Amino acid sequence: MVRCTTARVDLGALESNFKAIDAYLANESGLNRSAGRGGPAIAPGTIAVVKANAYGHGARRVAAALETAGATMLAVADIEEGVDLRTSGIRVPILVFGALSVSDLDGVFDFDLTPTISSPAAGHALQSGAAKRGATLRYHLKIDTGMNRLGFRHDNLHRTLPELLDSANLALEAVHTHFGTADEPGHTLFEMQRTRFETACRTLDELGAGPRVRHAANSAALLRDSRVWFDFVRPGLLLYGLVPAPLGSTMPLKPVMSLTSRIVAVKGVRVGETVGYGGRFTADRPVTLAVIPAGYADGLDRRLGDHGFVLVRGRRAKIVGAVSMDMLTADVTDIEGVGTGDEVVLLGMQGDKAIDAREMADWIGTIPYEILCRLGSRVERYYV
Ligand SMILES: *Cc1c(COP(=O)(O)O)cnc(C)c1O
Repeated sequence: MVRCTTARVDLGALESNFKAIDAYLANESGLNRSAGRGGPAIAPGTIAVVKANAYGHGARRVAAALETAGATMLAVADIEEGVDLRTSGIRVPILVFGALSVSDLDGVFDFDLTPTISSPAAGHALQSGAAKRGATLRYHLKIDTGMNRLGFRHDNLHRTLPELLDSANLALEAVHTHFGTADEPGHTLFEMQRTRFETACRTLDELGAGPRVRHAANSAALLRDSRVWFDFVRPGLLLYGLVPAPLGSTMPLKPVMSLTSRIVAVKGVRVGETVGYGGRFTADRPVTLAVIPAGYADGLDRRLGDHGFVLVRGRRAKIVGAVSMDMLTADVTDIEGVGTGDEVVLLGMQGDKAIDAREMADWIGTIPYEILCRLGSRVERYYV
């Protein structure tokens, strides 16, 4: 039994997005090389970001598809997500982005994960874990260049790093940072973070840290400035077929997820009557409503009430009244022949019309990331 509100996850689109990003990186760096432009002359590798259940798409299936498509490293938010992927049979290196301070570190060793070390304390804990096992653990070092979340502060590395770099059982594989404003073209912090990161990399040289690779770019930074590609880029959102607003891209990306349902009832509402909780919508003409069995328990934000649209019979129908836990209602007065059982598209294409997570996010003042990640756990994902 599958309820009729389902998410279709197109693994073919995922693979094609992964390859489109690769092709873009290869092409742009080729142009840098031949035209003598600034920016890298060698295409960076890709760390495919599958944290948060692969942005709601289902981490196990997405990770397996990316591995098959040739991904050489995946990234997750925490040890638990990494262990889940290993348990499901993923074999490529898995980088853990998040803090380790309150986690059980055994997972790093038992499941061969690559940790990010973002504090001296995490370094101590992993060094002693590795020593106890007689192992050498490869890690990525995180530098805080201005995000002010995790990472070693960029301005006192000479003091904070030597002990970590001297750890007998830890091997530095990469150094990275994360941008706070890559998707805000006018913001000066981006440029500041870029130069601070380059300075930090020089400091590592001065401290005699061995060879290692560098990475910094999320989707927005990847699109914005090839000078921050370094050796690897770390796209998440682009893989899922969406471009972070307000940026644009020439890459042929396709949204991986679509969300559909079916109309369970069609009913008439008279002038002056209200619809749903709070009576927020009042009919000012005779209205035909479609009742759709998808609500905030499925991840559809309550703010979509009176602000969003769905697709019915190839046309846009406005969501009216409140989005409730299990249902929402759309005005189909102007659409001919709507009946019970008709397909409703909440995200995706119907005929020549489309709604994607970026547009839905825009209706309610959020970002597409939140739309994707919040897709409810009871929504069946099926994979094609
Ligand atoms: C989530 C995340 C990314 C990917 O971000 P997108 O904007 O989805 O490309 C990259 N790096 C880090 C450290 C992240 O946490």
